[in-house]
Amino acid sequence: MNKRDYYEVLGVSKTATQEEIKKAYRTLSKKFHPDINKDDNASEKFQEVKEAYEVLSDDQKRAQYDQFGHQDPNQGFGGFGGGADGFGFEDIFSTFFGGGTRRRDPNAPRKGDDLQYSMNIEFMDAVFGKETTIEIPKDETCGTCDGSGAKPGTKKKSCPHCEGSGQLNVTQDTPFGRMVNRRACHHCSGTGQIIEEKCPTCSGDGKVRKVKKIKVSVPAGVDDGQQLRVSGQGAPGVNGGPAGDLYVVFRVRPHKEFERDGDDIYLELPITFAQAALGDEIEVPTVSGKVKLKIPAGTQSGAKFRLKGKGIKNVHGYGTGDQHIIIRVKTPTKLNEKQKQLLREFAEISGDIPEEQSSSLFDKIKRTIKGD
Ligand SMILES: [Zn+2]
Ligand SMILES: [Zn+2]
Repeated sequence: MNKRDYYEVLGVSKTATQEEIKKAYRTLSKKFHPDINKDDNASEKFQEVKEAYEVLSDDQKRAQYDQFGHQDPNQGFGGFGGGADGFGFEDIFSTFFGGGTRRRDPNAPRKGDDLQYSMNIEFMDAVFGKETTIEIPKDETCGTCDGSGAKPGTKKKSCPHCEGSGQLNVTQDTPFGRMVNRRACHHCSGTGQIIEEKCPTCSGDGKVRKVKKIKVSVPAGVDDGQQLRVSGQGAPGVNGGPAGDLYVVFRVRPHKEFERDGDDIYLELPITFAQAALGDEIEVPTVSGKVKLKIPAGTQSGAKFRLKGKGIKNVHGYGTGDQHIIIRVKTPTKLNEKQKQLLREFAEISGDIPEEQSSSLFDKIKRTIKGD
């Protein structure tokens, strides 16, 4: 079976936000909904749209899809076959259209949404970990009414418009005759209950927006782009359901000297020509302090040294990386007269420079012109 790409199905880019995905889904699911669109393949299109949305709207499933693409649901693991996992279209439909369902109970407890928070951290904090606090604005269950939205001491009453069923029959006269559609009752948003006296704190929403401080332990060894799940710190649940989770995504600032690759560190180390030629013992910075490094005599520019175990401790506890040092021999600039003289002597003694080259090119040219 040749499946279309989920992003293509919804007509969104690979980098689309959840908001864009949701919007595309709403438009397309309305367009192809079998109750609305009587085309032969509308139902098939609707299924396709629904399946694409199920995957792309779920951060985890989307990440898996981005990495592995379509998987054959018959293979038995992680497949994205639509509907079979109990996430029927009523579920999605009721979320967006405020009901209109037959099976789903709008008063049933639902888990709150997951939230994502991007956190900038310093290079060294990523290496060693850190306890910190973040402040995020989020909805909390209203403490005054415990989320019911009703003023304390008052009760919700059965909706008189739908007689507590949460649904209304809408009769329409069409050229084909009279059609009866069941719709979610808009007076009670399909819940079948109406709040008589609204809670003064949340005006009946059952939620209040607060800036919440949340403690986050940055794990030692965490790398740029990795995320941490803080359980139960997402959006509050609905109708007494559990809260969603908070995903903290770490953005690690680069270091001015160290470069990181996984758990290994790379450092460019400039040394002088004399150090390279004669050898030396020098102090080298590592993430865990300075260590001594022996430079052997005759070290070339570009030579590499490895300091075993001086890299970053693996975030999952799988050992510690190394630090790699790349030598850069600095050619001296701005020499004074004495230095120049010594280098000329050095060159002469070494016999590095061929004889013809030492007599200046200018002299040779002069000779050529004169013709002798
Ligand atoms: Zn309230
Ligand atoms: Zn109602």
